[in-house]
Amino acid sequence: MTPLTQPGHYHDIARDLRLPTQAFIGGKAWSAVSGRAFETVNPATGAVLAVVAECDGQDVDMAVAAARRAFNGGAWSRTAPEARKAVLLRLAQSVRDHAEELAVMESLDSGKTIKDCLHEIGTEVPTFFQWYAELIDKTFGKIAPTAPDTLAMVVKEPVGVVGLVLPWNFPLLMAAWKLAPALAAGCSCVLKPAEQTPLTALRLAELASEVGLPDGVLNVVPGDGETTGQAIGRHRDIDVVSFTGSTEVGALFLRYASESNLKPVGLEMGGKSPLLVLEDAAISDDLVGNAVNAAFWNGGQNCSANMRQIVDVRVKDTFLERVLAKTRSLRLGDPLDPETDIGSMVTREHRTRVLGYIDQGRREGARVLAGGGPTAGLAGCFIDPTVFDGVTPDMIIAREEIFGPVLGVIPVDGVEQAVAVARDTDYGLHATVFTKDIDRAFDVAHRLPSGTVSVNVFSEGDVKTPFGGYKRSGSLARDNGTEAMEQYTQTKTIWVNLKTG
Ligand code: NAD
Repeated sequence: MTPLTQPGHYHDIARDLRLPTQAFIGGKAWSAVSGRAFETVNPATGAVLAVVAECDGQDVDMAVAAARRAFNGGAWSRTAPEARKAVLLRLAQSVRDHAEELAVMESLDSGKTIKDCLHEIGTEVPTFFQWYAELIDKTFGKIAPTAPDTLAMVVKEPVGVVGLVLPWNFPLLMAAWKLAPALAAGCSCVLKPAEQTPLTALRLAELASEVGLPDGVLNVVPGDGETTGQAIGRHRDIDVVSFTGSTEVGALFLRYASESNLKPVGLEMGGKSPLLVLEDAAISDDLVGNAVNAAFWNGGQNCSANMRQIVDVRVKDTFLERVLAKTRSLRLGDPLDPETDIGSMVTREHRTRVLGYIDQGRREGARVLAGGGPTAGLAGCFIDPTVFDGVTPDMIIAREEIFGPVLGVIPVDGVEQAVAVARDTDYGLHATVFTKDIDRAFDVAHRLPSGTVSVNVFSEGDVKTPFGGYKRSGSLARDNGTEAMEQYTQTKTIWVNLKTG
């Protein structure tokens, strides 16, 4: 982890930053064919950071053509595993070397805290490139059992050109979650960052080129969803799409695929994740820290945010008292200050949406115990971390994804009610359970329909463990772990008659 220093240090870096403003296609900076461009804004200040090329279908066509040429040329897709591994290891190191620059860029573009950006970009992103690089020359095919006169090989091949469509909440980390396994597999990529946060993906493409990734293997096409995202979803020469974002847009990608070339679509989507505090749980500093982090990390702009905190009535008062104290200790403000715990919401529109949910909660009869509105004295898109008590499972704030700093306590009586309430959702991305009883922990973990269940900690796992959603949170595809490779490879059987004479 890059050591944190004084805020002035990050402001100095911000002043000197060169921000990428063009798309990246075929190994070069690329102005949109239409000449159009869009502003990307620092939500913590409202200042325009950069004017970035706005790609449309013509640019996506160019990017796909470059990716296809690279794929068919074989300089990446058919190169020796050791050679691909060496490039990705160099990319991991290059991200480490540029971590402060990238982290400041990301913080400015998204309103995320520098503390989180440094951790994600200085530690996690390089880990993803390194881990998948190391996997490349340790992955073997299979020989099927056959009669002696036959050889049946089962081999994995890269799927070809993949479209990667990303959200704004962890811009570079989500890029790494998808790019690292896709590149490790030998695919060529057309990546669309979210229109709110295009900068770090563009810079990453430059770094990848500098460390030797062949031209055309990684193309980045900034632009909006309706135009650029849809052009990727409907492109007939893209073999697979991997998407992370909202459930509504995920559904559109299925439609795009069905109306174009039936490309497989991997979907990582929204959530409404529960955190269960059972009656035997010790309400310790650790539990309270995890509960607060589960709701407020990244300002609650987190697909696996545990907003629904389902707390047994026997421990609820103690839990709430300590959660409120911890919540009040959180610092909001300048995202570039390493002491800041919660930065700005990503845009003014998103802040309005989150504030609308907070008002909705009040109207539905939940009680606001902390926060409940915009942060006084801060001009950017800040919202005070908000704690509701008395949330009931039928309320809209308990059913829809808020994606902001809101923690809602749903009181329950006993483990059966806790599990029933936790299961009562359209989503299934993540769940956390706190209990001292190990048998109960396993039982509840198995009964929760979620892609990840963490016990006595709020965790999404790490690079080694698959991440994805049940129900409306995802498709069968998984990011992370060796499972992620399945999105970017296909299986071929080669059946050989050995008795040719
Ligand atoms: P979003 O669905 O609005 O946008 C995601 C991406 O899709 C963006 O690049 C956007 O430009 C594009 N897009 C938007 N409309 C489109 C359209 N009509 N056609 C094609 N592309 C389109 O999501 P967001 O607001 O950027 O991100 C927040 C959402 O992402 C939340 O729902 C969150 O839960 C989810 N998310 C999920 C995970 C996960 O791993 N499951 C991780 C992070 C975020």
